[in-house]
Amino acid sequence: MNPSIPEILGPRLAPLDLDLRLKLVREFIPGRIVFTTSFGVEDQLVTHSIFTQGLDIDVVTIDTGRLFPETYALWEETEARYARRIRAAYPQAVALEALVEEQGVNGFYKSAEARKACCHVRKVEPLSRLLAGVSGWITGLRADQSAARAEVPLVAFDANYRVIKINPVLDYKREDIVAATQEFSIPVNELHAKGFLSIGCAPCTRAIEPGEDERAGRWWWEQDDKKECGLHVGEDGVLRRGPAPDSASPEVFE
Ligand code: SF4
Repeated sequence: MNPSIPEILGPRLAPLDLDLRLKLVREFIPGRIVFTTSFGVEDQLVTHSIFTQGLDIDVVTIDTGRLFPETYALWEETEARYARRIRAAYPQAVALEALVEEQGVNGFYKSAEARKACCHVRKVEPLSRLLAGVSGWITGLRADQSAARAEVPLVAFDANYRVIKINPVLDYKREDIVAATQEFSIPVNELHAKGFLSIGCAPCTRAIEPGEDERAGRWWWEQDDKKECGLHVGEDGVLRRGPAPDSASPEVFE
């Protein structure tokens, strides 16, 4: 994949709406493109745009085995709504057995290292299989979800996975996305109405209080202001703050 593509594509995407952004991404990037959904409200809007436009973009997810029942229900409802399968990657059985043997079934509460080890087995390794051989990776990241995401670019070359990473709702406001889901009757997670704005694994997600940032309910027992699951930050814990199209920078998204 030509790493200069983000320099060309980013400015062309910026003035467009979501539908046109996704359409242009599909036209501009050759090869296979995947959208990784975790069934958040912004993910549901992206999924709606891909499916209703009939774009050749695979909508995929990661089933960590620890998701909320409401998330599984939404997954099924979404497949029924669009008559499309959303393929999942699962943790490797041997690695998962070793993890639980070593740290216990809820061992991720014991330390940040234990939590990251769990995220690695249940999320990061499956993601690497979902992205194998892929040219473009679309996400539902939004800049105002947290301070750590505020400077993530619209398009960047991800040196770790060797893909063009596109965040087509990066500059969207949550209220605009919610309004769009209502306008188009897009199914959303029931937990959003109960104060769960950012929804991940059940044992690691809680509802948030008014005034907290959206991701405050994720790994709430950790104090680090750059809390991430490992899918979008580097091994050094740093979020990429701008495109690095021409270098094999060690600072990567996970
Ligand atoms: S969010 Fe929690 S349960 Fe899910 S993979 Fe990470 S540590 Fe494990």
